[in-house]
Amino acid sequence: MTDSHTSPAAPAAGWKFDNSYTRLPETLFTRIMPTRVRDPKLVVLNQPLAAALGLNAEALASLEGVETLAGNNIPAGAEPLAQAYAGHQFGYFNRLGDGRAVLLGEQLTPEGERFDIQYKGSGRTPYSRGGDGRAGLGPMLREYIISEAMHGLGIPTTRSLAVVLTGEEIVRESLETGAIMTRVAASHLRVGTFQFAAQWGTGDELRELADYALERHYDGIGDANDKDGENKYLRLLNEVVARQARLIAQWQLVGFVHGVMNTDNMTISGETIDYGPCAFMDTFDPATVFSSIDAQGRYAYGNQPYIGAWNLARLAEALLPLLHEDEEQALALAQQALAGFTEQYHGHWLAGMRAKLGLFGEEAEDEALMSELLGQMKEHAADYTNTFRALTLGQLEGVSMNGTAEFAEWLGKWRVRQARHQEGGSEDSGQDAVPASQQLMRRSNQNVIPRNHRVEEALSAAQQGDFGVMERLLAALADPYAYSAEQEAYTQPAKAGERPYRTFCGT
Ligand code: AMP
Ligand code: MG
Repeated sequence: MTDSHTSPAAPAAGWKFDNSYTRLPETLFTRIMPTRVRDPKLVVLNQPLAAALGLNAEALASLEGVETLAGNNIPAGAEPLAQAYAGHQFGYFNRLGDGRAVLLGEQLTPEGERFDIQYKGSGRTPYSRGGDGRAGLGPMLREYIISEAMHGLGIPTTRSLAVVLTGEEIVRESLETGAIMTRVAASHLRVGTFQFAAQWGTGDELRELADYALERHYDGIGDANDKDGENKYLRLLNEVVARQARLIAQWQLVGFVHGVMNTDNMTISGETIDYGPCAFMDTFDPATVFSSIDAQGRYAYGNQPYIGAWNLARLAEALLPLLHEDEEQALALAQQALAGFTEQYHGHWLAGMRAKLGLFGEEAEDEALMSELLGQMKEHAADYTNTFRALTLGQLEGVSMNGTAEFAEWLGKWRVRQARHQEGGSEDSGQDAVPASQQLMRRSNQNVIPRNHRVEEALSAAQQGDFGVMERLLAALADPYAYSAEQEAYTQPAKAGERPYRTFCGT
């Protein structure tokens, strides 16, 4: 299928839509067109992602392509809609929905995969409540940068295909440049989508939604009751628990603070979604909070696993009627599934931290070794990423606790532990042989993160029409494990005066 507005001269964009969401019960969405915008201009286009989606980047960057990315053109085959959902926001249950987003449809890729294509900032919908349905350039570029950084880190995430200017100003604290981001996701099903169906849909509608989620993300997982007599909706819950346990462990290991882990911002697919007040931690401290509206620290770095479990309990509640017809038995099944979260999370974190320290094998004392290091890092306000980077490179001069007796002792224990299990010796037999443990550390400790001052620098340049700063940052973040010369400049933490850093809910 090609773009209906493509002129003969331009290559076809390559859109190939299905709209399975429109076949779900009507309570779950509203069909709606994006609002036209005045003067679309392309700011950034994700060429590798376009190619992976089977889209022609040149066509997307053409005048007509940009009209499409702004929502002024709808590609043939797309049936746009806004999704309904609910959510616990900072603990309080609200009826929500896509208030400033429109799902264009699902792009079927040449690989046979299916991805949601969604405009963010594309105008008001029936779910806008008081909002204007719009988004500013800064927050959209911020989502673009951080989500692509997460992708580079190998962490499941929604992606960003493009950001365009709308040619209109939006009213926030001051006037801001309006923008629309095209978000790509395995799906936009959220814990909150199930909460919505459980609260305002019928039992059948909830079941249809659950079947849809199973089909879309978990290969349908068998018949209503599989051979072990395990209910497939329990399987769904277990699978989401498993993916979120893995995801949140990955966040913790790279020092990512999501910032607004409301249940509407937690996916069923296990992808990271909704980059609002998120940021990467620089100085290691479990109490790290960036969001200006999170005064209580509900979504602090160290709380993320607990909030993950809390959110999954909300999913379990929504699924209760499907788990068992007997309420008490349903509750028991749900509790069992939820109990698996902590154990799985911990297992992933432990395995990841062993890799970060270049440890092969498993020893009972490993966890104590890790807590000792983290304890010293906290005490000496060590930079999280750069401490592991320094250990990886064996360059300890910059480590804040270097020179202390405790750290010297820790290093001794660590080296002895590392040497006790070496896997396969060196991966290279030449003179430049790098020990397997160091190889493992290079694969497991990112050299760069999108540091807050660097992101801000890129965003302010972009506000002035200079997108080069952002492109260089994006290039450095594309493969954070490369340890390349170009990345060197991006490894510097912010100066003391540029902290503490505050983020805002990017609306
Ligand atoms: P978020 O904080 O981005 O997760 O958004 C929470 C809810 O507010 C979602 O339902 C959004 O669709 C909605 N929302 C956020 N910003 C706007 C806006 N500018 N206009 C309308 N709805 C919005
Ligand atoms: Mg959200």
